[in-house]
Amino acid sequence: MGSFHGRTLATLAATGQPKKHEAFRPLPEGFRSVPYGDLGALEQAVAPASVTAVLLEAIEGEAGVIVPPAGYLTAVRRLCDERGILLMLDEIQTGLGRTGRWFAFQHEAIRPDVVTVAKSLGNGMPIGACWARRDIAAAFVAGDHGSTFGGQPLACAAGIATLAELEAIDAPGLAERTGAYLERRLGALAGVASVRGKGLLLAAVLEPGLDATEVTRSALGLGLVLNAPVPGVLRLAPPLTVSIAEVDEAVGILGVALESVSGAETGGGGRW
Ligand SMILES: *Cc1c(COP(=O)(O)O)cnc(C)c1O
Repeated sequence: MGSFHGRTLATLAATGQPKKHEAFRPLPEGFRSVPYGDLGALEQAVAPASVTAVLLEAIEGEAGVIVPPAGYLTAVRRLCDERGILLMLDEIQTGLGRTGRWFAFQHEAIRPDVVTVAKSLGNGMPIGACWARRDIAAAFVAGDHGSTFGGQPLACAAGIATLAELEAIDAPGLAERTGAYLERRLGALAGVASVRGKGLLLAAVLEPGLDATEVTRSALGLGLVLNAPVPGVLRLAPPLTVSIAEVDEAVGILGVALESVSGAETGGGGRW
């Protein structure tokens, strides 16, 4: 639940947010969502022999940067092995260095069967990709699947160039180091109750009563782009090349935005 897997029909059906489904019915059937991080619920859901795969994000981004309990991915891997079903990981938001590893599943050193990547793969050029263990990938042969622009050389060249650059700059190392700094700075801000996430995919959970959307609006007016994927939560996913000075500047702006929203909400000189 709370997952986001995209807006093509099957991935929308797989997305665990029923309100996103409404405008697009009828949807492909056969998807079932369970609470994220709840191994017991997943065990029950995969019990029927008809179940073929588990699809999940290694960290749920749209749900507000939800990191699963430690050991969850390892346990899901074991469960999939026991049942002989596939483990498919959506790393479109978390992959390619963002969380301080090349892939977020590497935080638990598991091996998924299928992995999706997109977003950062093209560094702005539209490209998405799906890779799989060799024996699983063999289920497709040339011609089984395609699209008008699928595999087109310009996007693929951008993807290859981006991967080379991510390697050259050690993107996971940058995300891990700068992310740790950003996490510390965010945690020290008045109005921020807690910080969660990994690397440079972070969420600041605001103190009760602070409207996160108002904070994003105020920050935008001051030159800082943020979003509030769920109420009370700000998501921060800056470029992996962000400098410490830029982090300082952003945290400074966010501090001002938090103060002005808390001041407006209490009708006076700020709550802290
Ligand atoms: C962006 C994203 C997708 C792809 O979304 P589209 O709307 O289909 O481009 C899939 N999964 C995750 C986790 C994403 O963040």
